[in-house]
Amino acid sequence: MEDVSREYYLAHAGLKSTAELQPIYARHAEALGPDALAMAVEDFAAGGDGDARRSARLILEWQVETHAARLVAPSEEREIAWESTAMVRLSDGSMVPYQRAGIEIANSTDRGERLALDAARASLVERELAPMRRDRLQQEKSFVESLHVAGDYIATFEAVSGVDLKALAAECSAFLKDTEAMWSDWLPPAVKRSLGVPVRELTRADALALFRAREFDRYFPADEMEPAVRRQVREMGIDPDAAGRVRFDVGERDGKRARAFCAPVRVPEEVYLVLRPHGGQTDWSTLLHELGHALHFAYTRADYPFEYRWVGDNSVTESYAMLFDHLMQTPGWLVRYSGLSRQDAGAYLRTAALEELHYLRRYCAKLLYEVELYGDRVSWDALPDLYVETLSSATTFRYQRADAFIDVDPRFYAARYLRAWQLGAVLADALVERFDQDWYRNPNAGPWIVGELFAEGQRELASELSQRVAGRGLGFDAVRRALERLVG
Ligand SMILES: [Zn+2]
Repeated sequence: MEDVSREYYLAHAGLKSTAELQPIYARHAEALGPDALAMAVEDFAAGGDGDARRSARLILEWQVETHAARLVAPSEEREIAWESTAMVRLSDGSMVPYQRAGIEIANSTDRGERLALDAARASLVERELAPMRRDRLQQEKSFVESLHVAGDYIATFEAVSGVDLKALAAECSAFLKDTEAMWSDWLPPAVKRSLGVPVRELTRADALALFRAREFDRYFPADEMEPAVRRQVREMGIDPDAAGRVRFDVGERDGKRARAFCAPVRVPEEVYLVLRPHGGQTDWSTLLHELGHALHFAYTRADYPFEYRWVGDNSVTESYAMLFDHLMQTPGWLVRYSGLSRQDAGAYLRTAALEELHYLRRYCAKLLYEVELYGDRVSWDALPDLYVETLSSATTFRYQRADAFIDVDPRFYAARYLRAWQLGAVLADALVERFDQDWYRNPNAGPWIVGELFAEGQRELASELSQRVAGRGLGFDAVRRALERLVG
């Protein structure tokens, strides 16, 4: 895991031109061979209780994920190669690289141009990328089911992850219903102000343009980003460098990714936070998100076994990342650390609330759709229509059939995000209760976060963690209340 993680870090930070993973897998063939997988399946099936049971589940989850990932690696490489060379051809003969299409659509202020580009992109995807992706999803599904850990793909995911997908899907349906009125109140004025398109004609391309943050970017300058965030973390009593275990890689370099990312190379001893500060709302929010991950890994107990430090329920690490990135929705934090004044904050927070509710509704719909995709009730040929129907009705924006197999998070990662939203909101409430509204600058809050949360790695499920620190299970209640406070 260290070798793989280091390889990704070097490649994405521009320190190596490509990630060479095959030699690493070859070197560690025994850890990831068929015998290791069979042993993990056997250990898990043997039952047991307490920590032994927990470890067996975590090891099996890791083995299944890694084997599945290696199995589909050739297909994935083909798709990546396609994505980096494919060109979208418009009717006037002009061409746009496939990878630029999303950005061009979001940036386009001419609606006709935006829709034409999205139509051309969708038809290219439908012809070439969608069939490859559909094959990959099917390949992975049959591999996982062939292990006979549980009845089918969904039951296997639930057994090895400890996540109750069906219960979560029911919560998502309820959340969509409960926030329907809020959504239909909030969306039209924003659309009228920024796009001037009738609500019933909105498409996914319009959503990209609507949520392209620009208006408030000047309050989030590039050169103040890292110092401001470091100051805040120190004020709450956490060393942002974790005594040298978090390494900030901020230099300009060819081949370095534009978006900040965190690479835990050795947990907790060596964690990279890689960024290329360009400023703006999204950049600040991404840095906070990745810093939440980095601090989590760097403050994980060094004496914990591999499976508590490296694997487990990613809803937990995502919730810490969200706890940090949601500081961008906290009025006191914005006034203290960004360039926003209290007067400007109101308008900014209303925009943030709309965006937050949009992402929540989109992710709820994605999960509902993905549960059908991996279930066996709907045929694969009928999925594109179901995708359009599910996503469009949740978000108001009309989706394209072409994206039904592209817009899918592997192995239900959407469920991890949704639970992270839930846990993040519970944790924020718990912090306010213990350390007051401005917990983010309370010198007692940091040590509590480190001791009660970060140190545990991902030993617990998000739901167990919520019970331990807040005395209640996960749900969308806290999420909804936080949303209402934003516009309050
Ligand atoms: Zn994350």
